[in-house]
Formats: sequence, structure tokens, C-alpha cells
Amino acid sequence: MKLVLWDIDGTLLLLRGVGRRSAVAAVAEVLKADQVDERTRSVDFAGSTDGRIFRAMAAACGIVGDAYESNLPALRARYLELLAGEVAAFRDDPVLPAVPSVLARMAEHAEVRLGLLTGNYEPGARIKLTPFGLMEFFRVGGFGDDSEDRREVAAAAFGRSSVHHGIEFRRSDVIVVGDTEHDIDCALAHGFRAVGVCTGRRTRERLTSAGAHLVLDNLTEPDALERILEI
Ligand SMILES: [Mg+2]
Repeated sequence: MKLVLWDIDGTLLLLRGVGRRSAVAAVAEVLKADQVDERTRSVDFAGSTDGRIFRAMAAACGIVGDAYESNLPALRARYLELLAGEVAAFRDDPVLPAVPSVLARMAEHAEVRLGLLTGNYEPGARIKLTPFGLMEFFRVGGFGDDSEDRREVAAAAFGRSSVHHGIEFRRSDVIVVGDTEHDIDCALAHGFRAVGVCTGRRTRERLTSAGAHLVLDNLTEPDALERILEI
């Protein structure tokens, strides 16, 4: 039995600019910071976790320690509100090629179980996936609420999925699919298998050198599902 754990941004869909705009507006409002967009340009969202992103954005605006920690619950809440508004206003189709068909085939596969492994806060994951019909494939996962450290999010995803599906998955039967070196890293740290997809902001070379067992340009590649399950 295989457990396939999916990243969201850059892997299942691409909501260009939505996450950053929501985060910048939330930091500006809740932390009362100026020029947030300019000051946080160097904060890389790809493969990070929501908690780590907010900590880095606040630090870039000179807000650290208790001034940050005490405002984090309000920051998280306001971000999620803004995110919901941004996603509702998103007019393009953000779902990446062949994602719904691959997920549907995996969901029906007798030897496969699905989960999420994302740096998004859990409500943020729902906000991003539900309008596009992708949340129905996932009943369990690890999220940015579990930790700022993606390796710990991976551990949470594994533990929770094992309980939810009632299966003691072998670590070598756990497959992480993601678009950054951080997805690959958190898989390898636990003895999981890692699939890189070049649909986000990273090159094939970068995902390969991070140690991915398989790198796909995207999920329309021939036999993508079979190749993912075989690694
Ligand atoms: Mg990603």
C-alpha cells in the first residue's frame, strides 16, 4: 500500500500572487508595518511554511520577539480572511495540467491512499483547494499549523495519515510530490520517496540535485501515475 502526500502550491495549482498579496496586506494591517511589499521581497514563499513566512516577513519589517508572537493569532486570522477574498476574486484556472485526472485515478486505486503535505495553514489549504474541486480528494494531511519546520510537517502528515487510513505504511512506501527542494528534503529526512514536479518555481536540475527519485516536467507526462507509484 502506497501513501502519496501532495504539496499544494506549484504542485496541484498555481494561484499566482494570491498568497503574497494576502500575506503582505495582513502584515501591514495587523503589525502596522510600512512598505511591507518592498521590505519583504526577499522572503521566498516557495516550499516554506506559513509560520516561517510570517516570521521572516515580520523580521524584515523590524518586528521580532513578543511584538511578533503576541500578534501572530490575529495575523493568521486576518491573512486567512484576505486569502479567501483573493481566491474568490481569482479569475483564471489555477489547477495545473492533469492534476484532477491523476488524483482521481489515485483515489480509485486499491493500493493507494492520499494525503496533503503543505506549508499552508489548514484553513488556507481548504480555501485554495475547495473552489477548484481538489479538496474532495483529501481527508487528512500535515499543515503549516503543525510546525514552521517542513520536516516536522512531514512527520505530522505521516502519523495522521497512518491513523486516518488505519495502515502502518512502510516509510519506503510513502511518496512525497512537490515542486521545491524543501519538499524533497522533508521526504528524504524521513526515508520517504520524493517526486519533483517542474510546475512551480524550480528547475529540473535543482530538484534532481536535491535528491528527487523522479522528476516530471508536469503530470501530463506519459505514464506519470505509474512512474510515481513505481519509485
Ligand atoms: Mg510548493
